[in-house]
Amino acid sequence: MASGLGLSQCSICQKNAGKCMCDGCKNYYCVKHFNQHRQQLSMDFDDKVVRTHDELMEQMDRANQSKAAASELFDEIDRWEIVTIDKVYKAAEQARHQLTQLLTRDKDAITNDFEIMTKEIRNRRDEDDFDENDIERLRQKINQIQISLQEFIRPTKTKAIIVTNEQIDWNRLIYVEKEDERIGECIEKNILIENLSELN
Ligand SMILES: [Zn+2]
Ligand SMILES: [Zn+2]
Repeated sequence: MASGLGLSQCSICQKNAGKCMCDGCKNYYCVKHFNQHRQQLSMDFDDKVVRTHDELMEQMDRANQSKAAASELFDEIDRWEIVTIDKVYKAAEQARHQLTQLLTRDKDAITNDFEIMTKEIRNRRDEDDFDENDIERLRQKINQIQISLQEFIRPTKTKAIIVTNEQIDWNRLIYVEKEDERIGECIEKNILIENLSELN
C-alpha cells in the first residue's frame, strides 16, 4: 500500500518496503513476499487452468472414440431400411392382390349378366317372341351393362390407393435428432433415431 510519504509498504508483512508491484492485483510486495505471491499465482494457474484444460482434453479424446459407437446407429438405420422396404413390398403385393380380386369380381359379374342377356335376345329373336315391353326392358338392360362396363374400365379404384399412399409423411417416418446439446461421456446416447413408421 502506498504510504502518506509516497513510499509503499509490503501488503503482506506491512513492514518491508513494497518494491515490487503486481500488475494483476495492483498490490505492492517486498521481494520475499513478491516471490511468494508469484508461487501462489503459479499454483492457481496449474489448478484452475492447466488441470481443467487437461480434463477437457480427455473428454475430447473420449468424444472422438465414441464415433465408433455411431456405427451402431448407422446399423440401426440400415435395419430400419430393410424392414421398411419389406413392409412396402408386402403392402404393394397385398394392394395388387386386392385390386386383381376386385377387378375380377366386377368383370365376372358383368360377363355373367351379359351372357344371360345374350341368350335371351337370341332366343327371342329365333322364336320371334317379343313385344314392346321386352324391347324396353332389354334396352334398359343393355344400358345398365354399358354403364357397369365403363365404370370397370375407368381406373377409379387405382386412384384411391395412390391417395392413401400420399398421406404418408416420409420425412417423419425416420429421422435423427440430438436428445440435447450436452457434450460429455456418452455423446452416442444423446442421438435418438426416431422411427415412427407404422406400416403394418
Ligand atoms: Zn513483505
Ligand atoms: Zn497480484
